[in-house]
Amino acid sequence: MSHIYLDYAASAPVKPEVKLAVEPYLAQKFGNPSSIHFKGREARKAVDNARQKLAKFLNCQTQEIIFTSGGTEADNLAIKGVIQSTINNQQSAIKTPHVITSKIEHHAVLHTCQWLRDTNQAEVTFLEVDKNGLTDVEKVKKAIKPNTILISLMYANNEVGTIQPIREIGKIIEKENKNRFTKNLKPKSLKPILFHTDAVQAAGYLNCDTKYLHVDLLSLSGHKLGAPKGIGALFIKKGTPLEPLFHGGSHEYEMRAGTENVPGIVALGKAIELVQKNQSMEANRVKILRDYLEKQIFNKIPDVGLNGHQAQRLPHISNLNFKYVEGESILINLDLKGVAATTGSACTSGSLEPSHVIMAMDQDPLRAHGSIRFSLGWATTKKDLDYVIKVLPPIIKKLRKISPFGKK
Ligand code: PLP
Repeated sequence: MSHIYLDYAASAPVKPEVKLAVEPYLAQKFGNPSSIHFKGREARKAVDNARQKLAKFLNCQTQEIIFTSGGTEADNLAIKGVIQSTINNQQSAIKTPHVITSKIEHHAVLHTCQWLRDTNQAEVTFLEVDKNGLTDVEKVKKAIKPNTILISLMYANNEVGTIQPIREIGKIIEKENKNRFTKNLKPKSLKPILFHTDAVQAAGYLNCDTKYLHVDLLSLSGHKLGAPKGIGALFIKKGTPLEPLFHGGSHEYEMRAGTENVPGIVALGKAIELVQKNQSMEANRVKILRDYLEKQIFNKIPDVGLNGHQAQRLPHISNLNFKYVEGESILINLDLKGVAATTGSACTSGSLEPSHVIMAMDQDPLRAHGSIRFSLGWATTKKDLDYVIKVLPPIIKKLRKISPFGKK
């Protein structure tokens, strides 16, 4: 039986070049980067080297990059770090800081913001999105209050792929910050609004130049980019006030205590280098494949809809709703044929809760329940997709025959 992997948005296989780069740092170059002897220096050099690769990709200084255990930690550090720093700032005129985010964020952001709200550490506005999953720039503007200190919006959504107007929002925030301090109406103790974007899903395919995007904080995760799980990074613009989550050492510019994950860091550096080298070519290749898959599915199967923005969408994600059938049943049947896809994000698949992203876009639980996500990546070929196009129509036909939802 064929084994076709179309769940790259959950996790991608490690690229061969990355595997090769990491190998020496497992058993041979095993030193602790904090040690001053030659073994330590060897490891430190590798960490510095990887940090330089990330700095080039993000167009920032090396001191602005903090390695983390992944996207979830990077998001937590960004959001909790900013809030904690405001709370700790005795001079701040802000009693309760206000955070703006959206209803379609990854749970790493959503649950963190909900926790801050539920523990009365912050007031949070969860912005609605339109039916394509887009955040309205005007709504962001309107949601800003005098106590707003953080806006956290994802660069691109992990379930439907919709790309948010991050650069536009970044520029608006910069303007708002200028007004805050030049109008001279507010006390100096007021803080500027900081802008965080979760670029975990976007980094493989979109421009992550932090100056172009006008962001203060940006999260990355290795295992979406061809590096292993357990490594990520947070860009923290110089001067951004942030409290660390961990204490216990002066690693990572005192922002993240703990001995560095040297093999992971080397892997992330290599993966980012490869992304930067091939980004537009790879985005184009994957988009052609994804569009081919969608066209064939729409041709062969009636009553299929697209979730997400038709054009403003990541090239590797295809989230489709199949009327009258349950996504879970489609997945089980695809799995039996050797095809790996998912119903929602990796953390919600396996639960029968409808996707919070599709619910926020559409409010239709039937649509949410009948949706599945195919996500492509660096090793996907047309042959893989031809196999899916062959096995999927009979699965949908069979399921519709026994469907309790109406049309057969
Ligand atoms: N943010 C987004 C948009 C994601 O897609 C994911 C993972 O699916 C994460 C954050 C969490 O990243 P990690 O798995 O590295 O913790």
